[in-house]
Order: sequence, then C-alpha cells, then structure tokens
Amino acid sequence: MFPIVRFKAILMKVIRSFRGEIFLYFIVIFILFTVAVLTFQYQREKKYRVDQLENTLDNITEVTHLFIQQNNLLQNHNLDKIDELIKIIPQPNTRITIIDLKGIVLFDSFVDDPETMENHLHRPEIQMALNEGRGSNIRVSATTKQKFYYYAKKHADYYVRTAVIYNVDVQDFLKTSRRYILFIVTLFAFIGILLYLTTYKLVESITKLKNFSLKAGTNELVKFEESFPKNELGIIGNQIIQIYNNLKKTKDELTNEKEKLLNHLDALEEGIAFFSSDKNLTLSNSRFIQFVNLFAKKNINTSKQILKINEFSKVIKFLDKYLKNNKEIDLKALPQTEYTVSKNEKFYKIQSIIFNDRSFEILISDVTRLVKRRLLKQQLTSNIAHELKTPLASIKGYLETILDNWPIPDEKQKYFIEKAHFQSNRLTTLINDVSLINNIEDAGDLFEMRSIDLYKIVDDVREIFASRMEENNIEFINEVNPGTKINGNESLLFSVFQNLMENSINYAGADIKIRIRCYHQDDKYYYFSYSDTGTGIPSEHLPRIFERFYRVDKGRSREKGGTGLGLAIVKNAIQMHKGEISVKNVIPKGIEFLFSISKE
Ligand code: ADP
Repeated sequence: MFPIVRFKAILMKVIRSFRGEIFLYFIVIFILFTVAVLTFQYQREKKYRVDQLENTLDNITEVTHLFIQQNNLLQNHNLDKIDELIKIIPQPNTRITIIDLKGIVLFDSFVDDPETMENHLHRPEIQMALNEGRGSNIRVSATTKQKFYYYAKKHADYYVRTAVIYNVDVQDFLKTSRRYILFIVTLFAFIGILLYLTTYKLVESITKLKNFSLKAGTNELVKFEESFPKNELGIIGNQIIQIYNNLKKTKDELTNEKEKLLNHLDALEEGIAFFSSDKNLTLSNSRFIQFVNLFAKKNINTSKQILKINEFSKVIKFLDKYLKNNKEIDLKALPQTEYTVSKNEKFYKIQSIIFNDRSFEILISDVTRLVKRRLLKQQLTSNIAHELKTPLASIKGYLETILDNWPIPDEKQKYFIEKAHFQSNRLTTLINDVSLINNIEDAGDLFEMRSIDLYKIVDDVREIFASRMEENNIEFINEVNPGTKINGNESLLFSVFQNLMENSINYAGADIKIRIRCYHQDDKYYYFSYSDTGTGIPSEHLPRIFERFYRVDKGRSREKGGTGLGLAIVKNAIQMHKGEISVKNVIPKGIEFLFSISKE
C-alpha cells in the first residue's frame, strides 16, 4: 500500500510541475495522434485487403465461369466438377456457389445437397450483382456460421458466387503492423527526449521564478544570484524580482518609520490616539490608555467605550459638527478643539484634530503642574505684593517720622534709621528669595551642575551660623561622611542647609541639638535626615509647611527676618536634584526633615 501512495504522491508532484504538465499534454496528444494514425492505417490496410480479396475472388469467379463454360458443366448438369477446380485454387477454404437467375442454388462447394438450400436471390451480393453485374457482402454464413466475404458476378445464365472466410481483424493487423508500432514508439521516445531538452530552457525561467517566490515567501529581502535567461520570461522574472525588492525595501522603511513613531509615541508624556473616520481606534500609546482608564474608573477596551467617556463629550460634539454634516475640511487649517478638564484634583488638556481624510486624533496632556503653577504664580504675585508692602510701609513710616519731626535728637534718629535699615534688609532678603524660587522654577536648567561634596557644604553652613549657635547653646552634629559627592548645584544645596539651619536657630529654641546624617543610599540616591530637638511644628501645619509664604506664626517669623519662602526654596531645590522631601515631628521633641538627593 505504502509504495503505491508514494508513487502517487511523486506522480502528483511531477504532474503539478510545469515540466510535468507539458509532458502530460505531450503524452495525451501523442496517444491521440498515434491512435488516429493507427486507425487511419488500419482502415487503409483493411480496404487494401478487401480490395485484394475482392480481386482474388473476382479472378476465382472468372476462372469458375470459364471452367463451367469450357466444360459445359451447366448443360451436362455436372457442376460438382467445380470441386476439382477448387482443389487447384491457392486460396484456402474458398467456397464457390452457382446460383441460377431465379435464385436457386445449383452448386455449393460447402454443401453436398444444394437443393436443401433456400433461395439466394435476396442475398445482398446477388441483389447487387443483379443490378450492377457484381456485388459483395460480408456476413455470417447461415450455413457455416462463419464470417464470409461474399462476391457475386452475374453471367448470362447464372450467378457465380465465391466466398472466403473473412478475417481482416485488428489482431491480425496489429501482428502485421508490429514493426510500424515499434517505429511509432521509438518516434515517441525520441520526440520525448527532444521535448525534454528543449523545454529545459523554457522551464528554467519558471523554475527560477518559483525558487524566488519560495524565498520571497519567507518575507526577507531576496538576494537572487541566479540569472534568468535572456528571453521574455527572463525579463519578466527580473522585473518581478526588482519590483518585489523595491516593495520590500519600501515596506521595511515604512515599518522602521512606524516603529520609530510608535517608540516616540510611547516615550511621550502625552496620551495620543488616532481614530478612523468611522470612530475606530487605529493607534494609541500606553499613556492614552492610562489616562482613559483614569477618567473612566473602570476598564475600557473598545473604541466605543472610549468615546463615551464624559471627558470626551466636547470632542464628540466637535466631531459631530464636522463629520455628520460632511463639512468641508480645510487642509491648511485642520479643525481642532482644545479644552481642560479636571479629575481627582488634576488638570488635563484635551485636544482633538480632524484630518482631511476625516480620521482624527485625541491628545491628552497632564497640565496639572502648569495650571497649578499658574494659580500659584497668581497667588505668589499677590503674596509678594502683600509681603513687600509691609517692610516698604515701615521704611516709609520711619523716614517720615524723621522728616516730620526734624530736627530730632541723634539717638532717636539712629533708632529710626536702624529700624528702616532692618526693614530694607528684609526687603532685600525677600526679593532675593522670590527671585531664587522663580529661577528654580522657570530656569532650572540654567543652574550649573558639578561634583559637590555635601559634607563640605554642611560644614560651610555650620561656619556661618557658628556664633549664633553658640549664643543659643545649639549642638551641631554633622554625620555626613566627608567625600559624599553628588552632581549638583552648589548655591542651591547651600540654600537647602542654610534655610533648614536658620529655621532651627530662629524657631526651635535654645539648648537644642541639630543632627544631619545620610541614613541610606542606593545606586541613584542619597537619603538624608535633618533633625533638631526644638519646639517642633504643630502637626496641623505640617501639610502646608512647604507652601510659599506659609508661616506657623507670622509675627514671629517677621520678627526673625523670615520671608515664609525658606522651606519652599528647600523643597524646590531638592526637587531640582530629582529628590523628594517630607517632614515629621519627632518624639519627644523636635522636627525631622527626610529628603533624597540624586547622585547624578
Ligand atoms: P520663614 O521664612 O518664615 O522661616 P519657612 O518656610 O522657612 O519660612 O518656615 C515656615 C514656618 O515653619 C516658619 O515660619 C516656622 O514657623 C516653621 N518652622 C520651620 N522650621 C522650623 C523648626 N526647625 N522648628 C520649628 N518651627 C519651624
């Protein structure tokens, strides 16, 4: 069973190949051709034999007639003598019948008693001889049950009919045509080989094209080293390869560009999504999906669900206006809309643009920082104005007092001038702080970053406050290891420790300890703790302590020369160094600031 199946498979493979197909056609055509030629040949051979037979029979008929005439056999009623004639006729099994003009059989060499035979007038060959002088017919003899070729000729008194066994059959023919068939088969083989050799060239291009298409199927750029023959098929083959390679190159370039675009989209802070004109999501980055799920509170998967989100209702109205009314889209000014929504105390800008093919994009950006900064800036501006007013009014007041009461005693004069000087110092500090905080926020990148030893910074700050700490009996412990280096900005880091220490000296009270240590580090960050053992800050104030101009005790802060910006500067400076800061009261007394600073 197995070899048959295998043979069948191989046969199918051969037949399915281009060359196999050509051969199949060739064989079919050749067989048809051979059959046609053989049939024709057979017919010719048959006719030739029949003619030959007829000729022989005609001769025998003629000889018989002469034999009857010369021997006067009819008159003498001695027709049986014909048997002698038959003996000398070379044709074996020749039957001779003499029939009178009425159809009565007078003699039959195969039948002893002709009188028993029926009337032969209606035998076809006799009928033909009656009409045309001679006639022939092939049929099975009613007497001998053999197939005979009958031939009859009409003479003046009788018909002479001769017959021989008719055996001009195919078998005989094939036997005699054996050489002819052998010739045909040789011819077939010869033409086959010739065809095989000539089709090679024709099939070569096709085979190469097939090899190429198999390679191309793997979806790789095909370096096709084989060369095609220089005929039409070869030209087509070369063209196809070139077209394929060009297409493949363009496709690869496009895929690359798309990949770049996708990488870029994924690196974006904004969420972006592209929709087809029938509102189906075609492309989006992961930020977009995050934002959408944040808006919806539940998991969103389909384009329909996305566009149903409340936050996009204005986008939908905008889209409907253009898409439903089939409004013309101006290529130079693509329709777009933009608005801000707030969710969970955050602000998001939503933008949508419709493209000329009526597809559209939705862009979501987290503008919380911008919005909050704007609000803060507004607040800051009014706070600054308010803060500036107080020292300015004091300076103005002191100077007016001096002028209004002129001349005034030197001592009083000095007192008012000193007061005005203090207030003008405050004004300078305030302006410096405001400008510092603005600089950190607006032009953070302009601060020069270099390798800084934090131990040294802390020690420098200690030095400037050394006498004041001594006055207040403050113990200072710097546990930062010398050589704790980071890439940072010296003046900002200086401000961090200066503000923290100044606050401890100003607000924490006397007889305390200040301790600075680096309690942990990892690949990216140092983690610091700044603590004092002073009064601490009432816990209800802690959440707002880093806000600008936020003070626990306004009067006291002013009296100490504070601007309310110290901790805000600390927080901004830490954030500038990619760190975080938090604050907590410590038990039994005092406060602790925990902050991280990036090493890079
Ligand atoms: P200021 O310019 O008033 O010092 P800061 O932002 O530096 O502003 O501090 C805000 C407020 O936090 C201060 O007014 C003070 O009341 C409180 N504060 C800061 N540091 C300490 C501390 N170490 N101990 C007690 N209170 C503090």
